[in-house]
Amino acid sequence: MKGKLHNLIFLGMALGVVVGLGLWWLKKQAVEAAVPEPAWIGTAMWWLDLFGPTIFMGALKMIIAPLILASIVAGVTSLPNLSELGAIGWKTMLYYVATTTIAVIIGLVFVLTIKPGKTDAAQGVRNKRVAELVQYRDQFHAQTDQDALDADGNARPDFLAWISVQEGESGARGQDAAKFHKLTGAKGRTAGDIFKDDIVRPLLTNPFASVSATPPNSLGIIFFALLLGIACTITVARVPAAGNVIAFFQGLNAVIMQVTHWLMSVAPFAIGCIMAKMVAQNGPGIFETLGWYCATVIGAILVHVAVLVTICATIGKVGPIRLWKGIREAWMIAFTTRSSAATLPVTIANVTEKLKVSPKVANFSLPLGATMNMDGTALYEGVAIIFLIQIYGGLDDVTIAMTAMTTVLIFITAVLASVGAAAVPDAGLVTMVLVASAVHLPIYYIPLIFAVDAFLDMFRTSTNVLGDTVGAVVVNRLERRRLGD
Ligand code: ASP
Repeated sequence: MKGKLHNLIFLGMALGVVVGLGLWWLKKQAVEAAVPEPAWIGTAMWWLDLFGPTIFMGALKMIIAPLILASIVAGVTSLPNLSELGAIGWKTMLYYVATTTIAVIIGLVFVLTIKPGKTDAAQGVRNKRVAELVQYRDQFHAQTDQDALDADGNARPDFLAWISVQEGESGARGQDAAKFHKLTGAKGRTAGDIFKDDIVRPLLTNPFASVSATPPNSLGIIFFALLLGIACTITVARVPAAGNVIAFFQGLNAVIMQVTHWLMSVAPFAIGCIMAKMVAQNGPGIFETLGWYCATVIGAILVHVAVLVTICATIGKVGPIRLWKGIREAWMIAFTTRSSAATLPVTIANVTEKLKVSPKVANFSLPLGATMNMDGTALYEGVAIIFLIQIYGGLDDVTIAMTAMTTVLIFITAVLASVGAAAVPDAGLVTMVLVASAVHLPIYYIPLIFAVDAFLDMFRTSTNVLGDTVGAVVVNRLERRRLGD
C-alpha cells in the first residue's frame, strides 16, 4: 500500500476530474434550463471543500511554519562547519538566479513568437474594447464638456483618470471582486517598494508574529532560523546548554516529518476532492478565448521542465526517471494544492528519503526555494503581461510599445515579482501588478486572465517545486564530499 501512494494520488486526481466534470455538467444543464440547480450539488460541493481545501490543505498549512523553523535550524546545526553553510548558500542562490533567468527568457521567447494575443479570438476581445472606449470618449465628453483626445489624437490625462474610475468601479463588482481588490491593493507599488516591504521588512519581524501570520511570514522565519542555527553552532562549544536547543529543533524536525507522512496517507482522497471542486467550478469552457494563451504558458513551462531535467541529469547526476520516481508525490500535491508552501513537507520527505539528498542540504535549501525560487511564476508573469499588451497595446489607455526596453523591464520585474510572491494559490496573479505598473499597463486589464489563472497556477506551482528539488539535488551533488555523507 505504501509503495503505491503515487498511483493512488494519481487515481484520486483522475476521479476528481471525472466527478468535477459531472457536477459542472449538471450545473450547466440547470443554468441552460433556467431552473435552480439540485440542492444536493451544493451539499456535495460543501463536502468536497471540507475534505480537500479545508482539512487537507489546512493541515499542511498548519505544519509549515514550525517545519521551516525546525528544518533550517536542524539543517544548519548538522553541518560539519559554518563555511559549509556559506558554500551551500551561494551555490543554492546562484542556481536560483540562473534557473529563474532561464525560465523568464523561455517564457518571453514563446509569447513573442507564438503571439497568443494576436489570434482571432484575442483580437475579438480587443475589438470589443475598442468599441467600449469609443463609447467612453462620448460619455466623458457629455459629462465633462471636454474632449477625450488631444490634438495629436492621444488620450488626455483627465480622460485616462476618468476611465480608471469607471474600470475600478466595474472591476469591483461580480464574482471576481475579491481578486480585483487584491490587485488594486497592490497598485502603484514600485520595485523599490516590493524590495523594502516584501523582502527587507519581513526579514526583521518578531519570529512569533512570523510564525503566527496567515500565511506564515516564511522569509522572516527563514532568516530567524538561520540566525538561530548559526548562533547555536558557535555557542555550543562555549555553553554546552546550547546543545539542548539544537537537540530540540532536530527532534521537532523529525516529529513534524512524521506528521507529514500521516497526511500523505490521506492525500489521494483529499486531492480527489480538491480536483473535483475546482473542475466543477470552472469546467472546460474557460479555454475558448484563452486557449492559445494557455498553450503558450504550458509550452514554455514544458521547455523549462526539460531544461531543469537536463540540469538534474548532467550536474546533479540524477536521470529523469529516478527524478520523477523520487518526487512524483510532491509534484502531484503541488499540482493540485497550487501552493509550494503547502507542498513543502512532502517535498522535503521525497527529496531526502527517495532521492537521498542529504538533510543537511534539503532542510536548508527547500524551505528557501519554496519561498524565493519560483521559476514557473516568473515565466508566467512575463508571458501574461506581454499577452495583454499584444491584445490591448495602442488603445487610448495602453500606450506601451513592445520595444527592447519594455522587454527588459518586464524581464527584471517578472523575476522580482516571483521572489516577492507568497507560496500560496493565486499569489503570482497579485504580484503581477508590479510588472504591469512597470510598463504602465492599467491593472483593470488583468482580470481578463482570471478565468484560467487557477488552471495555470497548477502548472507553475508544480514547476516551482520541481525547480526547488532539482536545486537540492544539484547542490547536494556538488557538496557531497565536503558534507562527508
Ligand atoms: N501558487 C504558486 C506557488 O505556490 C505561486 C503563484 O501563484 O505563482 O508556488
